[in-house]
Formats: sequence, structure tokens, C-alpha cells
Amino acid sequence: MSTSSSIAPPIAMLAELTHRCPLSCPYCSNPLELQAKDSELGTDAWADVFGQAADLGVLQLHLSGGEPAARPDLVDLTRAAAQAGLYTNLITSAIGLTPRRLDALEAAGLDHIQLSLQGVTAAMADHIGGYRGGYDRKMSIAAEIKARGIPLTLNAVMHRQNLDDLPRTIDMAVELGARRLEIACVQFHGWATLNRGALLPTREQTDATKQIVAKAQTRLRGVLAIDFVPPDYYSDYPKACMGGWGSAGLNILPDGTVLPCHAAESLKHLSFDKVTDRPLREIWYDSAAFNAYRGVDWLPDPCQSCARRDVDFGGCRCQALAIAGDAGATDPVCRKAPGRDRVDALLQAALEAGDSADLVYRVSAPTGTRPA
Ligand code: SF4
Ligand code: SF4
Repeated sequence: MSTSSSIAPPIAMLAELTHRCPLSCPYCSNPLELQAKDSELGTDAWADVFGQAADLGVLQLHLSGGEPAARPDLVDLTRAAAQAGLYTNLITSAIGLTPRRLDALEAAGLDHIQLSLQGVTAAMADHIGGYRGGYDRKMSIAAEIKARGIPLTLNAVMHRQNLDDLPRTIDMAVELGARRLEIACVQFHGWATLNRGALLPTREQTDATKQIVAKAQTRLRGVLAIDFVPPDYYSDYPKACMGGWGSAGLNILPDGTVLPCHAAESLKHLSFDKVTDRPLREIWYDSAAFNAYRGVDWLPDPCQSCARRDVDFGGCRCQALAIAGDAGATDPVCRKAPGRDRVDALLQAALEAGDSADLVYRVSAPTGTRPA
């Protein structure tokens, strides 16, 4: 177990300002139980959290959702974060942004925008986002972002249905003036777990993707930085989820609940504190939930004696619970894990379901109706 003197402060904080969103992506990382509008922290409460985060040592704030532009006070929140000294990144689908709002956000101190891309054509993007007209609105705001020179990252969630468009996705990132492109193959948490069959790429797609990404990284060096998150289930080893539990970042839900990562609420045996009940500093250093899987002392075998122990920290706790049935188990994606056969079975079932699987869309918060 780590002691508070050995715990470093968090570097980044993701603030889920709201779970409301006009889109309904079938891989949304929001929880299956979305929080309602009337549970969201108000402007002053969020501003207080941003101040506490800066005091704690947080450098980067990701203003996220749902769709953060659904908050009428987004400009005020951005200003409060900038005044607290935080680097502000707005994670958005662009729906709800306008040229005027962009001006106001810039004036409030917004440092960076991360724009999601559901597809490179209106047909694909609107199909995946479940929102007709969304692509055209996104492209119009992307042009406004470029015209203003706001630093831009394009975040393209890739899966079976759009991975063949990867070369065009990369070209689009350059055309839109993005400085960074995140090619993130769907990770199976939250809503994506309902869509393994429709979204899991084939092995051929995965192999081709690695080659396309490697070539583009070389070709576009100095023009576009490209990050690549490969599909988990084809990997031999797990990712170092969040750089290790309670290690570098934290996540705040709309109602102020503080999590070590966006999916951690699925660990029902842990009790997560709210910023309305306890100071953020105390939650980070002293709460039972943040200390539950910190460091490496708690790790089971085979991790304890593995050379990668301090590289991936045994992988993802949420995936261990969801697939192996034990949050304290080795991430079952690992080839050495006793539960790897369960991942292989899921992979096989998803490939067999393949093209015939229907998409299950994320519902709207909080009523559960899907946008028309
Ligand atoms: S529905 Fe799509 S755009 Fe909205 S929060 Fe989820 S992933 Fe983001
Ligand atoms: S055994 Fe544990 S530490 Fe080793 S690679 Fe697998 S998950 Fe990582």
C-alpha cells in the first residue's frame, strides 16, 4: 500500500460537466446509468473544484461530458478554470458551439479543443453519432476553429465500421489544421460492451491499421502528431490504464463524484467520495477508493513476479471485474492471465456476430429516449 508521502499529485483532471449530449454514439464512455441534469454541480461548485484541483497540483483540465457545450455556463466555467491557472482543453462534438461562442471561449482563456470525429462522410458520421446533420455542423465549426488558430486535436474513435476509412481520416486531420490526431480503437467499457459484435475490428483491419499508422507517423513527422490506441482484445499485454490506479489523473462526474478513471463507477464494492462532501486533496490522498489499487504491492501473481509489473500495473481494474469477475485480478487481456480464455471467447463471439450485429445506441440523459 502507498503512503500519502509516496503519492504524487495528479497531473490531469477530466471534468464531466454533464452527461447530456445530442449524439448517441454506441461506444460512449459515459456510464450506462447516466446522471440527470438536476444532479449536475452548479457554476460556483465547479469553479471551486477547479481551484482545489490547481492547489492540488493538477496542470491540465479536460472539460468534457456528455457534450460540455450543453452547459449554458461553459464560458464561465472555462474562465474560472483559466483563472485558477489550469490549462483548459474542451472535449466536444462541436454540437452546441457557434462562432460567437468560440470567440467567447477564446476570450475566457480556452487553450485547446479536442474535436471528436465519428466518420469522414456525413453518412457514416451521422449513422454512428445517431444525429442527422451532425457532420455538417461539426465541419463548419472545425473551419471556425482553424480560422482562429485554436490548437486542435482530432479524436477519431475507430472500429469495424469505419477503420477502412483510416487513410482519409488522417488526411482530414491535416486539412483541418489539427496538430494531433488520436486514432483510438474502441475500448470495450460502458456502452461499447453492448456493441462488441458491431464494433470489434477484424484481425485483418487491425494489422492493416498498424501499418497505415506507422507510415503516416513517419510521413507527417513535424506536421501532425499521431497517437494510436490499438484494439485491446488483439493485444498480448494490457495497457497501463490511467498510468496506474490513482497515479496521474482523476475524473469527476457531473454530480461531483470523484473517480480514478471514467469507468471506475462499475466497481460497486468501492465507495467513491463527492467533492461536495470532502476536499479534493483528501479524496486524492486518503480515500479508501483511491488507495484500493495504488502502487504494485496489492498485485496478484503472475503480475507480482512479472518484468512488466511496473510498466502496466496489471492493467485495467474495470476490465478485470467485467471479464474475469474480480477487480483485483490480472487484466484478462494479458496472455499470462488465467482469464485470457474469456477474452478470446468474447473476441470469437464478436467476430462471428460481425456485420449482422445491430448498433445499440447510447440513450439520452436522463429520460432514456434516443434522438430522432
Ligand atoms: S454520445 Fe458520443 S459525442 Fe456524446 S459524449 Fe458520448 S461519445 Fe461523446
Ligand atoms: S502478468 Fe501482469 S504485469 Fe505481467 S504483463 Fe500481464 S498484466 Fe502486466
